[in-house]
Amino acid sequence: MLGVSPSHGADLGPTDLRPAKPIGLARPNRSVTRENTARCRVSDPEAIKILQLTDLHFFCGREKHGGEAADAKTREDVARLVERHAPDLVAFSGDVWHDPDEGMSDEIFAYSLKAMTKVETPWLFTWGNHDLLEDVAAAQSALTEAPKSLYRGAYAGGNYRVVLESAGGDPLWDLVCLNTTTQGVQKAQEKWLEAQIPSGRPALCFLHIPLLQYVDVWKSGQAKGVKHEDVCTYGEDGSALPLLERLKVRACFCGHDHVNDYAGRIRDVEMVYGRATGHAGYGGDQLAKGGKLITLNAAKSQFSWKTVFADGEIWTP
Ligand SMILES: [Zn+2]
Repeated sequence: MLGVSPSHGADLGPTDLRPAKPIGLARPNRSVTRENTARCRVSDPEAIKILQLTDLHFFCGREKHGGEAADAKTREDVARLVERHAPDLVAFSGDVWHDPDEGMSDEIFAYSLKAMTKVETPWLFTWGNHDLLEDVAAAQSALTEAPKSLYRGAYAGGNYRVVLESAGGDPLWDLVCLNTTTQGVQKAQEKWLEAQIPSGRPALCFLHIPLLQYVDVWKSGQAKGVKHEDVCTYGEDGSALPLLERLKVRACFCGHDHVNDYAGRIRDVEMVYGRATGHAGYGGDQLAKGGKLITLNAAKSQFSWKTVFADGEIWTP
């Protein structure tokens, strides 16, 4: 969510529909692959490791919030987490950067893209509500062509899939990556989901703005973890869940609300918050910045996760 941004619409409640901004919706400015699915080889099908990092908020209020030092600390944390866990891929689930001031868009995007490619392991990116740019079309091309990028949403409104494969090329598990723009999952994303052909394989979903079911699961009392702020679904109505179930999504991993880190099950889908990663984003005084390490076992169709920190600490609710 917006937190420290002066542009935060204080009149809007956590479930009010916000004005649409065309985040991640432009077509590429030059021809790039039209593939809407990426493939990612994993080293051990029984211990596939995904490191989810979210809400890095590069360049967020640099004057007020520690400036370049905060961003440098975030980049250092990312490097340490990647080194420690050696994931098969890194999932950046939105708000990698933060509402560029006029004329700053190219510099901020270049900085953010460099930070993502620096992990030197395959990485995916889902758009967050602060990932604004003056030239989204150029970013679509750059994101698709960047080294080790799994981003394939350039021609599909920022939505795409990733197939995790064994060394021999056997498909093991699917990832569904959604662009939640500034409004959460809406008709455009649902239409894209409806057009997807189910593979029959188990899947995870990565998205920035949580689904309405994150509210439901907390209200139900069976979620575990910490909740220090309202769930900001921004008018998303929960109708995407059956579409995700149709694609065998077993868990959703969102970002957005920096000081929530909880999980709970609605029907057969676990709603999980990622741990906010960026020191320039709000909330570090309430909840330590970190990441989420997800482990998949393709042989048993099982998954597990834990919150991880750059200093080696681990937390599970
Ligand atoms: Zn954020």
